[in-house]
Amino acid sequence: MRIGLTGGIGSGKSTVAQALVIQGGALLVDTDAISRALTLPGGAAMPAIAQAFGPGFVTADGALDRAAMRELAFRDPGAKRRLEAILHPMIGDETTRQAALAAPGQIVVFDVPLLVESGRWRRQVDRVVVVDCRESTQIERVMARSGLSEAAVRAILAQQADRAARRGAADAVLYNDGLTLEALQAEVGALLRSPLF
Ligand code: ADP
Repeated sequence: MRIGLTGGIGSGKSTVAQALVIQGGALLVDTDAISRALTLPGGAAMPAIAQAFGPGFVTADGALDRAAMRELAFRDPGAKRRLEAILHPMIGDETTRQAALAAPGQIVVFDVPLLVESGRWRRQVDRVVVVDCRESTQIERVMARSGLSEAAVRAILAQQADRAARRGAADAVLYNDGLTLEALQAEVGALLRSPLF
């Protein structure tokens, strides 16, 4: 069983992912972590990035210079596509490699922040589970966690699918608002016992 887990920033997606591992014995494939690792010092994508964009986009310790890349993407929309053309196949390969480590019958959970936005993911999983909450709750949680301003969090939200689009793609929705963490864990337990799994 391949589960695609998604949700907007601050929805509680990572919390639910951990609960699926602990309660459901799932193997978690964290596509965000895979993506980040590719561009850390010595990351597998760094030679291709250096070649495509030049040494100005590589930090002294050999990582992607995120500030320089953000600035370039702002001026040149094609830059983001060129970076994604390097990263996406590598993310796909590493995702497949990690998922293949699942034991027979083990649930594999793919944590994919932009599952609804990317389209291609929908075909690679058997079920889509969406973690949902009010936008105001997302903003509160992310501000508390990151120290970002409300405007900065709203700018991130504006780049993500809206709640209706995400819920429309879902086979199951976990509504994580006004719940304690314990109650959320119980919801995950109920989901694991449901016919969906
Ligand atoms: P995401 O991965 O969707 O960005 P996280 O799972 O990291 O979200 O949750 C964001 C923050 O909100 C974390 O600090 C988490 O502990 C907290 N959080 C999530 N759900 C709840 C809840 N039901 N009650 C209290 N805190 C929560």
